[in-house]
Amino acid sequence: MSSINETHDLSLQSWVESANDRNVDFPIQNLPFGRYRPAGSDEGFKVGVAIGDMILDLQGTGLADSPSMNALMALDVEKRLQLRRAISRGLALNSSQQKTWSKLLTPQCEAEMAVPCRIGDYTDFYTGIHHATSVGKLFRPDQPLMPNYKWVPIGYHGRASSIHVSGHAFRRPQGQTKAPDATEPAFGPSRRLDYELELGYFVGQGNQLGQPVPIANAEDHLFGVTLLNDWSARDIQAWEYQPLGPFLSKNFATTISPWIVTMEALAPFRAPLVRPNGDPRPLPYLDSEANRNAGVLDITLEVLIQTQRMATAGIAPERLTIGNAAAAAYWTAAQLIAHHTVNGCNLLSGDLLGSGTLSGPAPNEAGSLLELTEGGKKSIELTNGEQRTFLEDGDTLILRGWCERPGAARIGLGEARGTVLA
Ligand code: CA
Repeated sequence: MSSINETHDLSLQSWVESANDRNVDFPIQNLPFGRYRPAGSDEGFKVGVAIGDMILDLQGTGLADSPSMNALMALDVEKRLQLRRAISRGLALNSSQQKTWSKLLTPQCEAEMAVPCRIGDYTDFYTGIHHATSVGKLFRPDQPLMPNYKWVPIGYHGRASSIHVSGHAFRRPQGQTKAPDATEPAFGPSRRLDYELELGYFVGQGNQLGQPVPIANAEDHLFGVTLLNDWSARDIQAWEYQPLGPFLSKNFATTISPWIVTMEALAPFRAPLVRPNGDPRPLPYLDSEANRNAGVLDITLEVLIQTQRMATAGIAPERLTIGNAAAAAYWTAAQLIAHHTVNGCNLLSGDLLGSGTLSGPAPNEAGSLLELTEGGKKSIELTNGEQRTFLEDGDTLILRGWCERPGAARIGLGEARGTVLA
C-alpha cells in the first residue's frame, strides 16, 4: 500500500501557476496520467500528466521512453514511485527543469483526450451494498440481497470496445423488453435508460496465468482510478438478466474520465473497511490487516445532469446526488484483484475493474435513477421545472470526484461526461 512522502506535502507549489489554486483538481500533489493530442490534429496520442489547467508531455521530459500508457502502467511499484518523485521535483517551484519543461506544456482546453490506455478486458463488480440492496428490493422483494453477496465479490465480464472517454455522445439503445403484464416481449428503444456512478480501477502490473495475486500484494497490481459511468437500460436488463447476468443492457456504452489518478496520489485518502456487526469475516484470501485498516478509498462523488433545455438556456448542470465511495463499497479494490485472480485468471496491464454503483446509505446518495426514482415510480423535479424518471434524449450526465482531508492537498478525478442521443 502506498505511503505518504514528500510528493504529498501540502506546502508544495508548482511553477505552473494554475496548479497552486487550492480548489483545482490537478495540483502538484495529484499528477494523474492521461493520453492527449492537440485538438483537431491527427497526431498519435501521447502520455501526459495533468498539472493545473495544463498537460505535461511525459515523453518530452525523458522520464518515459515510449508513448505507450500500458508500458508505463506495467512498471513495478518502486519505478512508479521514482517516476512520481521525478515529475514532482521537475514541476515544483524553483525547479531547474522549468526552462525546458515549460516548452512541453499544452493547455487542457486545447487538447483532445483519448481513453487513457488500451483496455484489454473490463470486469464490472457490484461492491455497492446499498445499491445491491435497493435494486434487489425492486427485482426480488422477498430476497433483496442474495446469500452469496457478503462472501463473494460479485462481478461479470463487461465489454471493453464500447468504453469511451468523457465528452462523447451515444445513441439510445434499442432491444427487447417485456412489460410485467405482457405475454410477449416488444422491440424498440429503451424507455428506462439510466446511469451508474462507479469508480474504475486500472490494473498496473499483470499476473501470470495460474498465479493468483495474494491480497497482501494486490495493491501492487493496481495503477489508479477513474470515474466510470456504466450506462444501463433497465427495461432491457429486467428481461434479459436471468440466468447469466446483464448483456445488451450494459454493453452499448461506458464512459470514463480521461485522467488516471494513481494509487500513489491517493495515499493520503485511505479509510478503514468497516463491516456491520454480525457480518461474516471474509475468507482468508480476501482478508488482511492492511486491507481492514486502510483498504478503502475516501473519495467524494457527485452526479450532475444538464438536459437539452438547460443547455439551450445556458443553465449550468444541476446536482442529482453527492456521496462518498468509502460509505458505499462492501469490497475494496485489493479484494477485487485477489478475488479476480484466485482461480488463476491473469489480469493484464490496462485491464479495467468497475466498482459497481456506489450508492451511499441515504436515499439521496443513490448512484442511479433506478434508486432515486424507486424504479421509475417517483419523478425528480429539476429547478427549471422539468421532470425525470429516466434519462431523455439530449440529457448530459456528469460524474465528478475529489478527495479532501485536513493536512492534505485536495485532489480531483476530473469528470466523466456523456450525452444521450435519440
Ligand atoms: Ca455497473
